[in-house]
Amino acid sequence: MFEILFLGTSASAPSAKRGLSAQIITHNEYRFLIDCGEGTQRQILQAGVGFRHLTRILLTHGHLDHILGLGGLVSTFMRWEAIDQLEIFGGRGTLDRVRALIDDVVLRGNQTPMPLYFREIKPGIFFDAEDFTITAFPVTHRGPDCLGYIFEGKERRPFLSEKADGLGVPFGPERRDLVAGKAITLSNGKRVTPDDVLGPVEKGIKLVVVGDVGRTDNLLEFCKDADALVIESTYLEEEAEMAHQFSHLTAKQGAELAVQANVKKLILTHISRRYRGRDVLKEAQSIHPNAVVARDFDVYQIKRNE
Ligand SMILES: [Zn+2]
Ligand SMILES: [Zn+2]
Repeated sequence: MFEILFLGTSASAPSAKRGLSAQIITHNEYRFLIDCGEGTQRQILQAGVGFRHLTRILLTHGHLDHILGLGGLVSTFMRWEAIDQLEIFGGRGTLDRVRALIDDVVLRGNQTPMPLYFREIKPGIFFDAEDFTITAFPVTHRGPDCLGYIFEGKERRPFLSEKADGLGVPFGPERRDLVAGKAITLSNGKRVTPDDVLGPVEKGIKLVVVGDVGRTDNLLEFCKDADALVIESTYLEEEAEMAHQFSHLTAKQGAELAVQANVKKLILTHISRRYRGRDVLKEAQSIHPNAVVARDFDVYQIKRNE
């Protein structure tokens, strides 16, 4: 399961109700902050989730409404050692700007108390954990090196405990071995193989996160069959011309992408102050019935069969 907490859902400038772009994605003990608009650290505190384990930041692109909060966050971490290290991932152009913000404005020759790493990433898998991966893919927006991210659980075969019970497999290391693909021999001499107790292969959960973007045709392959897609929705169709001009999407465009890519749940964010959330929702739901518009502090759990 992946859990996504929206910390900021506004486009370009904050509104009274919406902060600037930031989301936390959690999977087991892993936490990733995606983008860090101005005010993000206050949103983290208000959400009550704290800074612990918040050691990895993934950036979609280098526009100020997505990165300015990094200055404040790093400044806080310097005075208050909440974390062991900080890794900031992004495309080259994004990191150039972030490095200027942190090195020239925040640090000015000082060192952070914790190691700080800038991890330049290119499209492809860049994070490979025990049971999930994160893949970056190119996104078309104003400026270079904009990235989207796919969080995807690895394929697995479920353990069928009723079958194991029936075969008399005891609880403990024997079951662990079977899950790990090793055959075992029971105390009565009977051999049990993984195929006896494991179900058919199940695909992992797929969550796709796209930041600001002005084109959807080249995103189809990356969004294919996702359990959930988070994507910007800065404009409504009545201002499609303006959306195109500034390389953003309308709610309709995001919803059409989700339908074409067979996405189960569509979560729209990066909402402009010029619209009401319900109008954005109406436009999206007229095309993709399982669309929602995220609000600050909303939490979505992305799991199987939803
Ligand atoms: Zn933006
Ligand atoms: Zn942008």
